Amino acid sequence: MAADAFDEECDYLFKAVLIGDTGVGKSNLLSRFAKDEFRLDSKPTIGVEFAYRNIKVGDKLIKAQIWDTAGQERFRAITSSYYRGALGALLVYDITRRSSYENVSKWLVELREFGGEDMVVILVGNKCDLSESREVEKEEGKGFAETEGLCFMETSALRNLNVEEVFLQMITKIYDMTSQKSL
Ligand code: GDP
Repeated sequence: MAADAFDEECDYLFKAVLIGDTGVGKSNLLSRFAKDEFRLDSKPTIGVEFAYRNIKVGDKLIKAQIWDTAGQERFRAITSSYYRGALGALLVYDITRRSSYENVSKWLVELREFGGEDMVVILVGNKCDLSESREVEKEEGKGFAETEGLCFMETSALRNLNVEEVFLQMITKIYDMTSQKSL
């Protein structure tokens, strides 16, 4: 994926990860955010992929390095190295596939085991363009996020709804957390 803008001077480099069941739209959320692209096919390769994008928060330039499981979640082969150094995560489910929502708690257990204690986690209900096939109500996702202390947003990678917003929210929260720590 895009390894752009290496030459620009950045104030911070933040690593964040995408997790959630296969097929929920993680790769498409990432390619929307990094390259403004959407793919109708499923991805062919297996392995970790990542993309960079530089973001301005206030007067600081942040390089966000976002990792995608690229199919490995099928084999539950995501290891501690995937999470190592990650300050944020988008935990994605598909609002039209209830099982992907029910698996969110399993992903949270893994995230809490391998990720840092104060990781910024956003629960993301993707494919909100498919409202006629909805199997998880927005209020349900939001309520679960509240009880778990997570942020919450519904997105559509296909229609490019809330994609920029969800990544920006995560990056801004990581920045706030990091700058508070260094005070
Ligand atoms: P991943 O396995 O979680 O990385 O999921 P992908 O990004 O490969 O997407 C799986 C399938 O869902 C593909 O066929 C995508 O075209 C489709 N998809 C992804 N995001 C959306 C979305 O927001 N809306 C709709 N309708 N389809 C989507």
